[in-house]
Order: sequence, then C-alpha cells, then structure tokens
Amino acid sequence: MAFEGLSEKLNQAFKRLRSKGRLKEEDIKEAMREVRLALLEADVNFKVARDFVKAVTEKAVGKEVLESLTPAQQVIKIVRDEMTELMGSTNARINFSSKKPTIIMMCGLQGSGKTTHSAKLARHFRQEGKRPLLVACDVYRPAAIEQLKVVGAKVETPVFEMGQGDPVKIAEESLKYAKDYGYDPVILDTAGRLHIDEELMNELRAIKARVQPHEILLVVDAMVGQDSVNVASSFDEALGIDGVILTKLDGDTRGGAALSVRAVTGKPIKFVGTGEKLEDLEPFYPDRMASRILGMGDVLTLIEKAQTEMDEKAAIKTAQRLKENKFDMTDLLEQMKQVKNMGPLSQVLGMIPGLQGKLRDEDTQRGERELQRMEAIINSMTLRERERPDIINPSRKRRIAAGSGTSVEEVNRLLKQFRQMQQMMKQLAPKKGKRRPRMGFP
Ligand code: GDP
Repeated sequence: MAFEGLSEKLNQAFKRLRSKGRLKEEDIKEAMREVRLALLEADVNFKVARDFVKAVTEKAVGKEVLESLTPAQQVIKIVRDEMTELMGSTNARINFSSKKPTIIMMCGLQGSGKTTHSAKLARHFRQEGKRPLLVACDVYRPAAIEQLKVVGAKVETPVFEMGQGDPVKIAEESLKYAKDYGYDPVILDTAGRLHIDEELMNELRAIKARVQPHEILLVVDAMVGQDSVNVASSFDEALGIDGVILTKLDGDTRGGAALSVRAVTGKPIKFVGTGEKLEDLEPFYPDRMASRILGMGDVLTLIEKAQTEMDEKAAIKTAQRLKENKFDMTDLLEQMKQVKNMGPLSQVLGMIPGLQGKLRDEDTQRGERELQRMEAIINSMTLRERERPDIINPSRKRRIAAGSGTSVEEVNRLLKQFRQMQQMMKQLAPKKGKRRPRMGFP
C-alpha cells in the first residue's frame, strides 16, 4: 500500500518527540525538519512540503502546545489536522444535477486507468441504486470500445457506442438515449493520449462545449508521482476540471500525489483507485487518509467496505445457521469468500489501527496463501463431508489432501480449527429451553 515509507518516517519523528516529555522550540523544529524530508522523499511537491511544515511549526511552537501536559500528542494532532486541510478537509462529492441525466466526463492520459475507473464509478452508482450509462467516446482504438464493453458487462452497466464515429456526436446522442431510457448518470469515457497535446485538448473542449458536463473528472495515476500533479494542472488549465480520481494507490507508490494534488491545482481528489478489480474504488476522505498516513488506521472505511461488499443476505443466513447450530464447512467457505471480497488482506489489515506498517508483506502473503489453501481443502470435500466433518476418516483425509494439493496434516489442522470454531459458537448460541442470552444472535 502507498504511504508505507512516509508513515514509517513520520512515526519515527513522532516517537522521538514523545520520548522527550517536555518540548522546546528546537525539538519541534528538528522534528519538522524530519517531517519535511519524509514528505519530499514521498514525492510531495517541494512547495507544498515547505508550506506544510511552516504552517505546522507556527501552530506547534506556541505556548499552549509547549506547556501542555502532552506536547508531542498535540504536535501530532496539528500535523493530522494540517494534513487533512491540505487534502481538502471534507469528502468532495460528485455534482449531481437536478436536471437528469447528470453528465460525468472522464478524462486523462492513456494508461491512467480511465476506462477501468469509468466502470468502477458505474458500479459505485449502481450500489447507490442509480442506473448509470457508460459511453464509448474513445474512438481511436477499437480495443478501447471493446474494453469498455467488457468492464461494463462486469458491472452490469450498458455501454452506448457508435463505433469509431465523431466523439462529440456520440456524446450528444448518448444523452438522448439516456433520457429516452431513463439512464442517470451518463459517464463519458473519452480518449486519452500518451502525452498532453493540443489535438486531445481540442477534442475534449469540443465535447465539453457541446454537452456541458456537470462534472469533469480527471483520472491520474499515482504511480507517476509529481508528474501526476503536473498532468492535473495542465488539464485544469486547458479544460477546467472539477475533481480528480487518483488511481493505483495500491501499488508501491510513495503517495506524494495524494498530498499535493489539491494544494497545487486547487481541485479535490474525489475518489481513489486501490486495485485492478472493479470494486477497488473508495470515496476520498481527507481526514481518514491523514489518519491512515499517520498510522492511526482507518476504521471507518473498513466498516463501510464491510457494509457494501458483504452480502447482507449471506450474513443473515449465517447468523441463522449459527443460531440453529448448523454452521458447517460450506458456511465457513462462504465466510472466507466474503472476507476476500473486501480486497487483498494487506489492504484490509492496513486499515486497522496499530497494525499498519507492523505486518510485513510476508505475513499478509502467508495469510492470503493460508486462506487459499483452506478454500481448496473445503472445495475438495463432498457436500456431506462439509456438513458432517466427523465422518472424515483417514482415507477421506488422504483423498481431500490429494484433491486440494495439500497434506493430511493441513487437512487435520483445518478440521481442528473448525471444531474449535464450532465449540465457540455453541457457547455463544442460545441453548434450547433456556432464556436467550442478551448477546445472542438475531
Ligand atoms: P486507460 O487507458 O486510462 O483507459 O487505462 P485502463 O483503464 O485501461 O487501465 C490501465 C491499466 O491500469 C490496466 O491494466 C488496469 O487494470 C490498471 N489499473 C487501473 N486502475 C488501477 C488501480 O487502481 N490499481 C492498479 N493496481 N491497477 C489499475
């Protein structure tokens, strides 16, 4: 995940501050020098880093902080608040128009993730109960239209296309289509180039002039660091943008773009892309991101992910099975799938306060491998074996191990874990004839 290096360095600086107890102005200045270096190393724009440190220092060297009982804590809080402010304070939402349909124009350089994020957005809106329409305005590469159709199908969103015609006309026609068939919002996937050029900008300006989008979103790749901020400035000057989607924040990008975009361009990041899968999209909350960068975790996003990605019906079913004491291996398999839906384990664990940065990649990879092996083992069981694991005798164990490419020891381990889980659940589940304990399942 992005920001690891930055988080680590900031935490080192804060740890030194904490170890000092009472602070002198010089201590804070020294910590701020470290913060500045950490920001620069994370590829934060030079001016942004300088102004940030200046603002924090001014607030931190006052009497109130220095003479407080927990000066280091106060300094960290100031850093957190300033960082939140730097990224725009509040979650910037999409401008929805009262006149339907709302038109969202996606633009960006080739490879930034524009097509993928058009589909991710469509999925996001569908989850909110809307009926989005994707529009193929990238007419230069036939593969681009095809790609949009593929991702559109995955998120169950229709794609309006007119082959390799005039993108301005296509955008216009798509609006009529959306009005006729009740689609809203309309997401225009426009052409990208490898570099910014006049021809591209002219085309985008022509689309803008004709359809007057309510929202122009620029998709930029966080992996290119400072360059992404330059790209954002250029697009904003030439076209005028409303917000940014920062993609590929899952890679080992240093994260500087997230901290600089808003300060340099004045335009907020509205969403971030955190993976190649179509569910890997998060609304951008500056305060949560600041907490994540400072290693304080991001429990709110984790809870939201659990709420949107977990299948509610499946959760109710599991609760019911637990209540009836029928939880079996098939249910366990279902549970593991739900956890996987929330994204890579490393990302999920990274949002838990205190765990961030503490888990080495090997640990999470081992955890992910372990989950995969457990799944393979359960998949190799017959339905009856999943329902009644006690019938799994040595010869069945050998068959399951061979079928799942694991060993009898691993099968034994899973069976033991499952027995322990069942035991625990028995204690939690309400007993027949007795009053239901207050902590019982619904
Ligand atoms: P476009 O040319 O701007 O339309 O870019 P695409 O949508 O085709 O994306 C380019 C590549 O980046 C594809 O291989 C995507 O799978 C990948 N990609 C897009 N968004 C993300 C992201 O958030 N994280 C990661 N790791 N890869 C992404």
